[in-house]
Amino acid sequence: MVEVGMAASWGSILQDEKQLEELAQQAIDRALAEGVLLRSAQNPSSSDVVTFAPFTLFPSLVPSALLEQAYAVQMDFNMLVDAVSQNSTFLEQTLSSTIKKDDYTARLFDIYKQVLKEGIAQTVFLGLNRSDYMFQCSADGSTALKQIEINTISASFAGLASRTPAVHRHVLNVLQKTKEAAKILSNNPSKGLALGIAKAWELYGSDNAVVLLIAQEKERNIFDQRAIENELLDRNIHVIRRRFEDVSERGSLDQNRRLFVDGQEVAVVYFRDGYMPSQYNPQNWEARLLLERSCAAKCPDIATQLAGTKKVQQELSRPGLLEMLLPGQPEAVARLRATFAGLYSLDMGEEGDRAIAEALAAPSHFVLKPQREGGGNNLYGEEMVQALEQLKDSEERASYILMEKIEPEPFGSCLLRPGSPARVVQCISELGIFGVYVRQGTTLVMNKHVGHLLRTKAIEHADGGVAAGVAVLDNPYPV
Ligand code: ADP
Ligand code: MG
Repeated sequence: MVEVGMAASWGSILQDEKQLEELAQQAIDRALAEGVLLRSAQNPSSSDVVTFAPFTLFPSLVPSALLEQAYAVQMDFNMLVDAVSQNSTFLEQTLSSTIKKDDYTARLFDIYKQVLKEGIAQTVFLGLNRSDYMFQCSADGSTALKQIEINTISASFAGLASRTPAVHRHVLNVLQKTKEAAKILSNNPSKGLALGIAKAWELYGSDNAVVLLIAQEKERNIFDQRAIENELLDRNIHVIRRRFEDVSERGSLDQNRRLFVDGQEVAVVYFRDGYMPSQYNPQNWEARLLLERSCAAKCPDIATQLAGTKKVQQELSRPGLLEMLLPGQPEAVARLRATFAGLYSLDMGEEGDRAIAEALAAPSHFVLKPQREGGGNNLYGEEMVQALEQLKDSEERASYILMEKIEPEPFGSCLLRPGSPARVVQCISELGIFGVYVRQGTTLVMNKHVGHLLRTKAIEHADGGVAAGVAVLDNPYPV
């Protein structure tokens, strides 16, 4: 009922091309003024030329019950990730088949084992994650919150998502929809992430130590990162940006495994690089190991990165696993499990055979996922069928998981991108909730949700986020 009414009121604007174009211009100028920015694709190492980050002209309708549910389960997900990261038996068992066939996960796991063997010097642990969901639409018209994945490394867009509410309020105010404008939620995840980093920095306990942000040389999304850096500087915490190469050339550990880079002691290492294989060469792997061995608080440490793999996500859906990892917390377990979609192991054996047979019989209901981050790696439809046919008799299949494909109800939305005219297309959205936790030794000293991110993309794209050029920034309009 509500949906029809709202869609109709924005729908009439969506149909008037001239009004749409004019409104788009105003929205884009406001986005630029607010700092919803990316560096240009041509010159990603310099801020001389910037563009607006792509976004929707209007906020998208999201059932408030699902929004609340996603917020309510975030602290449980924080605890779960933290529990997995401390359970070496579980990590080892879960990843054993995967690391035999996936070199990248195997490299990460090697570092993990080396650090365990030497003994973990780190005492302060910092998790900055983002749990992503889609709204599964059932035949009876009801919608359910289903987790796509949790990002435990380099979860992005907290900075830009803090700046988009003003843009959507602007659009609705131009249309004299002031009541609607007031319904757009305030959102400041970059401040929340910074508070987590600040807490870890404080617990590390050295006034002169800095935060080391591991950055890529070419970074279009720098303003997103700067938002967090700025929040830290406001609290008198200094951030140095360095590449893995800089760490390997000018980083060192003292006898207490304190980390120094360019002569500065590092309290917290915040990774905005190092989440995909192409970001590592032998020198970078060496730098990653050095960072891991240090007593600085890594965000994430290597165990927490491994806790964010798709294989771990799939194993967590097995009966009894959540209960084992979160003993005595049946309510948290129930909240978590309610968000799980169907997840299937492809390890050799009967269970994996059955999953493959089901996916081949109904390809449109499944997604095939390798152990990768950053978008554009999953396989769907005909491509998935071909891959499964090729993989099904080889142990290589264990480096993938199968997942139930979530089917949200598409809706019309106007996507704004530099260089393209404003156009209305059929879209679906993905909601992310940012979570922060800090643990000192065995004591959890912070556990919170700190904001959200809504991303919307045209339905013709099965995969990919904002950075991949597929999805655009959006805001939930709670209904
Ligand atoms: P990545 O680590 O590359 O971000 P994701 O698991 O988030 O991997 O998948 C990338 C994109 O693929 C998601 O943003 C989403 O649009 C789509 N996707 C992933 N899993 C599913 C699923 N089960 N159902 C529908 N779409 C999915
Ligand atoms: Mg993702």
